[in-house]
Amino acid sequence: MTPQKSLLTELYSLLPEIQGIRQRIHAHPELGFQELATAALVADYLRQLDIEVHEQVGKTGVVGVLKGTAGISARSIGLRADMDALPIHEQTQLPYQSTIAGQMHACGHDGHTAVLLATAAYLAKHRDFAGTVHFIFQPAEEGLGGAQAMIDEGLFTRFPCDVIFALHNWPSLPPGHIGVNPGPMMAAADSFTVTVKGHGGHGAHPYLSKDPVVASAQLITALQTIVARNVHPFESAVVTVSAMQAGNIQAFSVIPDVVILCGTVRTFSDKVQAQIMQRMQQICDGIAATFDMTIQLDYQKLFPATINTPEYAELVARTATELFGADQVDANLIPSMGAEDFSFMLRQRPGAYFRLGQGGAEQGRVLHNANFDFNDAVIPQGAAMFVRIAQNFLAQTTTTTLNLG
Ligand SMILES: [Zn+2]
Ligand SMILES: [Zn+2]
Repeated sequence: MTPQKSLLTELYSLLPEIQGIRQRIHAHPELGFQELATAALVADYLRQLDIEVHEQVGKTGVVGVLKGTAGISARSIGLRADMDALPIHEQTQLPYQSTIAGQMHACGHDGHTAVLLATAAYLAKHRDFAGTVHFIFQPAEEGLGGAQAMIDEGLFTRFPCDVIFALHNWPSLPPGHIGVNPGPMMAAADSFTVTVKGHGGHGAHPYLSKDPVVASAQLITALQTIVARNVHPFESAVVTVSAMQAGNIQAFSVIPDVVILCGTVRTFSDKVQAQIMQRMQQICDGIAATFDMTIQLDYQKLFPATINTPEYAELVARTATELFGADQVDANLIPSMGAEDFSFMLRQRPGAYFRLGQGGAEQGRVLHNANFDFNDAVIPQGAAMFVRIAQNFLAQTTTTTLNLG
């Protein structure tokens, strides 16, 4: 049996136990920074494996530390899983469906937690590596800044990591497929609110008003020209005005005083982000002058782009090819305009984020849908990726490595 085969066989033998844990987490979903039961379950499981456990790193985060026994090495790797659920009411009718109304694991973070526990179980049993593996169980990935909270509480100073890796299940890739990219994986996500302040009046007497609805219509159209006319065609960006609040739908003859718009901007580079912010401000100022009203732009940077380090994206692709064959690996995956807060960790340390195919998109089981469920069959594949990435990385010799084993 090849080493890859025996790794997968052993991980498949863990599946009944790990699947049980995954479904238990699924039945008890917890929102960001409220992952108390999930964190306790993770910590207990790691302790049973005789792994050193640190709790409350970034409020509800957990870090497991496992030192290899094959000699002394300063090399270290961080493997990260997210643990939080979403405020969505589950509609799957699965036997282990959410027991909490209005909360569910609709992004598969229960599965990511299970994959990392399976990885820990395997490596705890096979400690014959040189260096340290940090199992990072992150809270609050869904927009609440759990990664940054862990970093702020000393994640990388208390648990030094030379490199970091994370995965996300991907319903539009078939089970067993791995997708990665040597550069951008996910976009920076920003939000904006625009307040257009005119002067309300009678719908029959627009000449006595300053109509913010007409100004907003021009503004929305003008904002669309930023990507179409200003951003370089070989760069990628999105400017979306997603909501608009204007007047009262029952008041057909009332011009309102104020219109509020909000939306999102997605980019992959600081340069394009700065360009879009500047053009948005110019357009807001220009439309305000044109229509003689005030327009205020409030722009918030939320998540940076998730950019892989080419060398470690290549390690992911090589590991996936070794495990599953070249035909199961897309090493040049098209990036997503979605965002991921692992980006905060990738700004601190080199590493890579990759996609673990799990299928289900054709049946509508897409991320953040009330009918979504993580596919337990891919737990061994995800864990095999983490195990081999760790073993491959730690086996690389550098001048800082002193191998006495
Ligand atoms: Zn999500
Ligand atoms: Zn997610």
